[in-house]
Amino acid sequence: MLEIRSYTFYFCPCTQDLYGDEVLKHVAEHSKEIVNYLNEQKTIPFQIVLKPNLLTSDVIEKTFAEADADPDCAGIITFAHTFSPSKSYIRALSSLKKPLCQFATQYNEDIPYDKIDMDFMNENQAAHGEREFGHIFARMRHPHKVVFGFWQDPEVVEELGKWMRTAVGIVESPNIRVARFADTMRNVAVTDGDKIEAEQVFGWTVDAWPVNDLIPFVDSVTDAEASELADEYYELYSLTLDGRDEKEFRRHVEVQAAQEIGIERFLIEHNYNAFSDHFGDLGSLKQLPLLSIQRLMQKGYGFGPEGDWKTPAMVRLMKVMTANDPQAKGSALMEDYTYNLSKRHAGILESHMGEVDPCVAEGEISIRATPLSMGDREDPARLVFTAKTGPAIATSLIDLGNRFRLIVQDVECKKVGHKMPQLPTGTVFWTPKPNLKIGTEAWIYAGGAHHTAFSFDLDATQMSDWAEAFGIECAVIDENTTIRDFKRDLRFAEVAYR
Ligand code: MN
Repeated sequence: MLEIRSYTFYFCPCTQDLYGDEVLKHVAEHSKEIVNYLNEQKTIPFQIVLKPNLLTSDVIEKTFAEADADPDCAGIITFAHTFSPSKSYIRALSSLKKPLCQFATQYNEDIPYDKIDMDFMNENQAAHGEREFGHIFARMRHPHKVVFGFWQDPEVVEELGKWMRTAVGIVESPNIRVARFADTMRNVAVTDGDKIEAEQVFGWTVDAWPVNDLIPFVDSVTDAEASELADEYYELYSLTLDGRDEKEFRRHVEVQAAQEIGIERFLIEHNYNAFSDHFGDLGSLKQLPLLSIQRLMQKGYGFGPEGDWKTPAMVRLMKVMTANDPQAKGSALMEDYTYNLSKRHAGILESHMGEVDPCVAEGEISIRATPLSMGDREDPARLVFTAKTGPAIATSLIDLGNRFRLIVQDVECKKVGHKMPQLPTGTVFWTPKPNLKIGTEAWIYAGGAHHTAFSFDLDATQMSDWAEAFGIECAVIDENTTIRDFKRDLRFAEVAYR
């Protein structure tokens, strides 16, 4: 499983020095109780740490600066127990870099009607305080998240937990490092883009490498090492020989095993966590890396074919955002291939030549070594499977020339219901929301790619919050999408994000 930093979040009670020590003591005590409760919930993925009451602009500035300087801190959660005048936040907010969630909750769930008095109202005035606190974010155009509701409501806690994953996606974005073996496929538009802009906006490093710089890493893998890894494959996966001689088949598999070891050594030595390749520029690699890349994707590396560097960056980020989720069903590169147009089972078969991430597989995974219909190399070994089912999102980050747009689509993954014995690749089948027709039309109008960063474990809100943090447009296609509204939103975004 992918290891990430054990992030913490600062919990900051917002108040002021006006109510007397007794109230401030209660604010701190209640906040501690809330933090302790949240830290016990399974849907809270990272540790929350209570900070002292935010009383004055000096304390606020010091606390926010501490959050920015603390590499373990992925964000700030605030709670306005009382009123907390928001001019006190201007200095702190003007330099804050870490994500901030305004947890608009209240210590008491219900109003104690029989005994409520002015003292109670002064101490428990979240409805009052949260509005003042929120105002300054609107005034300063500082992006922040608002989660409203009672702190013991499981849905509210889950929403807070999901935002914490978004925050990790925001702070981890500058750690994305993509190695590009060979350039983008000739004449293809959507996978290309401005790599300098990507570094300025998202903090990504995207470097080019001649594929022949990779070759020595693959060639220096010993036969014994490749054979040992192939043994591991043979334990994990079944074999579909397709009439091949067993020894010859094994040799094809060992080529991929050497590639897995060699590519990973290159990535580790040069400190990359994502990469792209191109089937038309393989140097002296004997086979197009398929099984090898499938395994690397499952280990947590982002990958994109045909020189696509934006999708591997996004896939890697999604894997990081969901890394410590034991329930995760998978985040992966997908490619839109073939429609099933009949209304009974309308949808899109997602696949690739072979680089389909087995993290989304359900049931048997089988190794096959069959010819590619393009290129000039040996038949590459690859893992073949069908996928899990359920709601998921497909995302595509595109470069519009002067800015980026993130497109996020809700999809429902389903079983195909048929065997596909002639298709030697992993597949996912999904129906886009609101249906195949509108969902596809909207995706095409938005300019979404055929490559997607797909996730069972993240949702459209998390990804739009992520996009908002970087100031880019996020076009969401979901159950409520109509073509007329969607096209209008795209047109307005041209003005809003110019
Ligand atoms: Mn492609």
